Amino acid sequence: MSHIVIIGASTGGLPAAYEIKEVLGKKHEVTVISNTETFHFVPSNPWVAVGWRNRKDTSFPLAPRLKRKKINFIGQAAQTLKPNENQIVLADGQVINYDYLVIATGPKLAFDEVTGLGPQGHTHSICTLDHAEKAHEDWQAFVKAPGPIVVGAAPFASCFGPAYEFAFIMDTDLRRRKIRDKVPMTFITSEPYIGHLGLGGVGDSKGLLESELRNHDIKWITNAKITKCEPGKIFVDEYNDRGEVVKQHEVAHKFSMILPAFKGVDVVSQVGEDLVNPRGFVKVDEFQRNPKWKNIYSLGVCIAIPPVEATPVPTGAPKTGYMIESMVEAVKFNIKHDIMGYAPDHRATWNAICLADMGDTGAAFVAMPQIPPRNTAWMKKGKWVHLAKVLYEWYFIRKMKKGKSEPAYEKYILKALGIVKLKSKIVNK
Ligand SMILES: Cc1cc2nc3c(=O)[nH]c(=O)nc-3n(C[C@H](O)[C@H](O)[C@H](O)COP(=O)(O)OP(=O)(O)OC[C@H]3O[C@@H](n4cnc5c(N)ncnc54)[C@H](O)[C@@H]3O)c2cc1C
Repeated sequence: MSHIVIIGASTGGLPAAYEIKEVLGKKHEVTVISNTETFHFVPSNPWVAVGWRNRKDTSFPLAPRLKRKKINFIGQAAQTLKPNENQIVLADGQVINYDYLVIATGPKLAFDEVTGLGPQGHTHSICTLDHAEKAHEDWQAFVKAPGPIVVGAAPFASCFGPAYEFAFIMDTDLRRRKIRDKVPMTFITSEPYIGHLGLGGVGDSKGLLESELRNHDIKWITNAKITKCEPGKIFVDEYNDRGEVVKQHEVAHKFSMILPAFKGVDVVSQVGEDLVNPRGFVKVDEFQRNPKWKNIYSLGVCIAIPPVEATPVPTGAPKTGYMIESMVEAVKFNIKHDIMGYAPDHRATWNAICLADMGDTGAAFVAMPQIPPRNTAWMKKGKWVHLAKVLYEWYFIRKMKKGKSEPAYEKYILKALGIVKLKSKIVNK
């Protein structure tokens, strides 16, 4: 019997637990270690921040769902990883032995890299449910006494989609409240141009997103290094393509949401350079295994992937749900093959498929492969994307609650897009 331990139970870790248990069956033990007792659907956070969703809609307790699937659950943080001993030490000192480890710990949010950044400072975040709820508290006060909004992403950020989403979602919410005219909005991003997305752009993402920002009266600053956040003011150095500062800005804000840079979490980064890269992301080979400790697999936002290209202000490449799903698939089969004595042969597909909600409409991106030049670079805007995103949320949460082993992100998206497009064609006729 092998013992497979998964650290983290979110978009990557929870499907991994279900799928690994299903593929290995009763003879092997699967344990999930999570520093939160509940599953949170992270992509809903922008909606939580404006009050379109709440905690109850987007989260559920992990223990009963995992128990039903005969998966062990430990609701506390993994504190120390001892890869040479195949052991994890938990926050309460308990030691857990493993045969295979799957690290799905997501990012550490590096607010400390910019003075005053983050919910402990002077800007909001939507990266966690707690942060989104805190943002919502302030949002309720803000709409009663509106002022300027700043939204965007800090240097070294890699997850730009939610910043665009949140800008358009706030815009929609303010228009519905008929107070949009009282709110100057500025999008500040470390991307070299609007629509870069950490991917070198996808199709005409630059043209489309610039046009959308213009149509929604949202100004922007690109190549922007946010240097300091103060109450009411965000300080920005704007760079040119040669990496020189060309302008310094002090942008007024009454409400702001800036996505931070991501790093690896402490439990993995403290192991050192054999396990992680300089920013603490887990090094994996083409089979999702760590090159030194081949019984350690990793998936999701916590893995190391190189930036798509160098940019004047540092940016990273995003790891989105579809990619994560394909990493889960690879990890599951490679662990199974290893147990059976075969060489691993499953590789994740490095394709990005993303649905970006824009409040009442949305934009869908497909980048295959993620790094250009690509076989497919496609981007389309439409109300059907907003509907597809709502369906995606409903479907993913439902599957995770039921403990289905296969979240089928890809199949879901293709189905949802097919159905919704078909419906809108019928409606439009
Ligand atoms: C606001 C936002 C919206 C997004 N929207 C989309 C979207 O619409 N579509 C898309 O494709 N992608 C989206 N993404 C990107 C990505 O899909 C998500 O970030 C996704 O949640 C990443 O999953 P993960 O499991 O790798 O990491 P996480 O979701 O961060 O999960 C990691 C888990 O590990 C736990 N953990 C960390 N350290 C420990 C420890 N020491 N011990 C035990 N547990 C630990 C954490 O508490 C967490 O529950 C979005 C990202 C953000 C931030």
